[in-house]
Amino acid sequence: MSKREIAIIGGGPAGLMAAEMLSSSGHGVTIYEAMPTVGRKFLLAGKSGLNITHSEDYQRFSTRFGTAVPKLRSALDGFPPDDVRRWAAGLKTETFIGSSGRVFPVAMKASPLLRAWLGRLEAQGVNILTRHRWQGFSDGGYVFETSNGSMTVRPDAALLALGGQSWPRLGSDGRWVEWLREQAVAVHDFQPANCGFNVDWSPFFRERFAGAAVKSVVATSEAGSLPGEFVVSQHGIEGSLVYAHAAGLRDRLAAGQVAALVVDLMPGRALERIEHDLARQDPKTSLANRLRKGAGIDGVKANLLRECGTDADLHDPVQLAKLIKTLPIPVIAPRPIAEAISSAGGVAWDEIDEHYMLKQLPGLFVAGEMIDWEAPTGGYLLTACFATGRAAAQGITTWLAR
Ligand SMILES: Cc1cc2nc3c(=O)[nH]c(=O)nc-3n(C[C@H](O)[C@H](O)[C@H](O)COP(=O)(O)OP(=O)(O)OC[C@H]3O[C@@H](n4cnc5c(N)ncnc54)[C@H](O)[C@@H]3O)c2cc1C
Repeated sequence: MSKREIAIIGGGPAGLMAAEMLSSSGHGVTIYEAMPTVGRKFLLAGKSGLNITHSEDYQRFSTRFGTAVPKLRSALDGFPPDDVRRWAAGLKTETFIGSSGRVFPVAMKASPLLRAWLGRLEAQGVNILTRHRWQGFSDGGYVFETSNGSMTVRPDAALLALGGQSWPRLGSDGRWVEWLREQAVAVHDFQPANCGFNVDWSPFFRERFAGAAVKSVVATSEAGSLPGEFVVSQHGIEGSLVYAHAAGLRDRLAAGQVAALVVDLMPGRALERIEHDLARQDPKTSLANRLRKGAGIDGVKANLLRECGTDADLHDPVQLAKLIKTLPIPVIAPRPIAEAISSAGGVAWDEIDEHYMLKQLPGLFVAGEMIDWEAPTGGYLLTACFATGRAAAQGITTWLAR
């Protein structure tokens, strides 16, 4: 095969994975990255341990991508979680399965893996040009802003791996959306995913409980009933249990509906037992005492009941027990996308052929979070970024050999 020049625009996990594949098949690969270094969001993900993939049964794993499952399936089949772990091991990063089934590097950070990965890319001849910000198209080429002014490149094929729109200060700012739309490529607006929500807390509750963790609860929404914990913030609610329910809450709000995270504050105790124990309390004692003695509830949980319940709920043992088991925390709006773990929206699937090439722009491919899919936290995001990076690289190789 003759050597061809390929531009990869965006040096996150999807772009780096494509660069690894393409350079290993002998192509000349240049990564153009806007920031001073590549993989900044990957490194940030490492701060919470780098949940690189998930160990659950693959059939279940592959259902975690909502409506994009049929589109993503073949890329995921090509790089399933076991392969992710083998690939990491090949870069001297052994992984382990945490108690929740999530997979992490033993080192619980991203930097050693990224260092080894960049070493492999360098050994395979990949050229990495940082501080090269793609600015759109001109005369069949790709225009970059660099410290030495503007330059235009015309590779044999190119991959956009520009990320979504969360944490824009790490590089993925979504400015590319308008350049693709100018080329008549449909891009769905980005929305926050795996995000916190605003709640209209009373000044007392906010001041007293912002930062408090609400532990060992179960929250229910369209996503199912999931155990976990969340944190009360100045603005509302945050944390893994909220993120797991975020897509449904966000979509309800967008549809103009009322949305609430429904929480069981005492998942280990049956409703009837709580009712019975509360009914035995002296109705003249304070709510705090009745909750503590009758249900073992105090602190932030007791105050959440006050905050979200009515006076009538709090004074009737039957209603109070019901509130403890199904406490609705009404959410007003998702937190801004800049704070979200990931984003929903991006390049519409109808615009992409089965090789991840843009139908409108032959020779230009896309991968990673910039495509319209979303998934919960749990290692699904990185796995799909790696997998689509590989699938697009395979698509480029096939297209160049056509
Ligand atoms: C706090 C946090 C924790 C996370 N933890 C996890 C986790 O534990 N597990 C998990 O699976 N996922 C996690 N994620 C999500 C995961 O990091 C992302 O899904 C993943 O990084 C997306 O990869 P990507 O390659 O598509 O895009 P990105 O990683 O966003 O990379 C895109 C790259 O393109 C560059 N770029 C953008 N525009 C231009 C331009 N015009 N010109 C040139 N370059 C450009 C950007 O600078 C960036 O380097 C986390 C995210 C955050 C914010």
